Amino acid sequence: MTQLILPRPIENEFILGFIGRIKRVNLESSSSEALRKLVSHFKLDQEDLPYRMHYYQSERHLRALALTSGKSVDEFLFYHSNFAAEGLTPESAAQWLSLRMRAKKGKRYPESKLPHLCRECIGQQVREVNTPFWDRRHQLDGLYWCPVHKSVLLALDDWFANDAQIPLAAIAYARTPATADEFDKYPVLRSFSEVMIRFLQYPLWRSAPRIEACLQSLAIAQGLCTQEGDVPKVPVDSPFLSDIAFKECPAWWLNDVFGLQRGVDCKGCSALNSVFSARGHAPSVCYALALSLLLSSRERAHVFDES
Ligand SMILES: [Zn+2]
Repeated sequence: MTQLILPRPIENEFILGFIGRIKRVNLESSSSEALRKLVSHFKLDQEDLPYRMHYYQSERHLRALALTSGKSVDEFLFYHSNFAAEGLTPESAAQWLSLRMRAKKGKRYPESKLPHLCRECIGQQVREVNTPFWDRRHQLDGLYWCPVHKSVLLALDDWFANDAQIPLAAIAYARTPATADEFDKYPVLRSFSEVMIRFLQYPLWRSAPRIEACLQSLAIAQGLCTQEGDVPKVPVDSPFLSDIAFKECPAWWLNDVFGLQRGVDCKGCSALNSVFSARGHAPSVCYALALSLLLSSRERAHVFDES
C-alpha cells in the first residue's frame, strides 16, 4: 500500500487548495500525482466504474478526497466547494474538477474565478490552525471583498501554477480590480456577499420558487417586468434591473460578474434582467444581486426564514 499522509480539510477549505495541501505534505511532484497516489492508497483504481469517456478519473479523485476527509462525496462537496451556492450540481463535479486539474498556467476556463485570498485572513488562519489555507468563501462568484475583514481580496495566478500553494511572497504583487472603499461606498455589495454566503448553507434550489415569486411581485410593482413575468415586453421607458444596479454597484463589477455594460441595448436578454422568470435557472449571482437590490435586509431575512 502507498503510504501517504492524509490531512483533514480545514473548515471552509476550498477543494483545490486542499488538493494542493495534500501534494505539499506528501512532497509529491504535482497535484495530479498526489491525486493518483490517493486513488491508489484507497485502492479505487482496482474498482470497475461505469464507463464514462472523459471524467471517470476525476470521479475517482473525488471519492479519494472524500475518503481522506472522512465524509461522503456529497458532504465533501457541500463543505469544501461552492457548488451549492453557485447552483452547480454534484453530478457536474467530476467534469468541473477535470477541467480545473487540466488548467495550465495562464489559461483560464470559463466560469473560473482566479484564486482569491484575504491578506488579513491569512494571519488569522496561521494563528488559529497553524497554516494558511484557501477559504472557499473568497472563491465565490462575485466576491471581491473579504466578508469578514471588508478588505479587498487579492487575485493570484491559476490554481495549479503553484500547486495551490499560497505564495506569501507574491501577495504584495497580487492584482485586483476592486478598491478598498467600494465595499463601504456600495452597501449592496455587502448584502450580495451575505446572500452568496448564505447560499452555501441553504442552496438556492431549495428555495428558488419562493425567492422567485417574491422577486417577481416586487418587479411587477416597480415596472421591471410585466404581470406575466416578461421583461422584454415592459415599456421602453421603464427601467431594467440593470439600470438600478448601475446606480448601486461599481460598473467594473457589473461587467466582470454579470457581463453588463452601461448603455448597451438588448438589456432584456441579460440573465440579471430576466431573473424574475428564470424558473431557478439563472446563475445564482443574479438572484443574489436582485435580492440585494430590491429587498431590505429585514425583508431578505423574512424571505429566507420562510423558505
Ligand atoms: Zn479576511
